[in-house]
Amino acid sequence: MVMGTLPLVLCPCCRKRRTIRLVSASSANPGRIFYKCPNHRIPPNPCNHYYWEDGDDSYVDFLVRNGYVTVSGNVASADEETDDEQEEKLVHDVGKKMDLVVKKIDELIEICRNVFAAILFLIAVVMYVAVVAK
Ligand SMILES: [Zn+2]
Repeated sequence: MVMGTLPLVLCPCCRKRRTIRLVSASSANPGRIFYKCPNHRIPPNPCNHYYWEDGDDSYVDFLVRNGYVTVSGNVASADEETDDEQEEKLVHDVGKKMDLVVKKIDELIEICRNVFAAILFLIAVVMYVAVVAK
């Protein structure tokens, strides 16, 4: 089995935490790989999930054998990832559109300023002409 690439599953026992892969450092089982629930023996609701992985007796096989992991389950989780990606892309697109809207509003404000300046200039000209014409 390839080390470090196992997608860890929800604890089959409590279904609250994801199981973790550890290597034993005890003198009784040095270097022995095991999997356990992070809540194992932790109060107030200790979980009993604990699995030694020995040679061919892999954790994945154990999960499949007991129905905790199925091929269709793996496909479903892959679909979830795709949905997440699509959602992310959608959010990104919305962000881009917002940028465009903000730019358009800036342009409008700039046009309004120019129009306002032109009107002021016209008023000034009209007043000047009126004063001179007197
Ligand atoms: Zn558990």
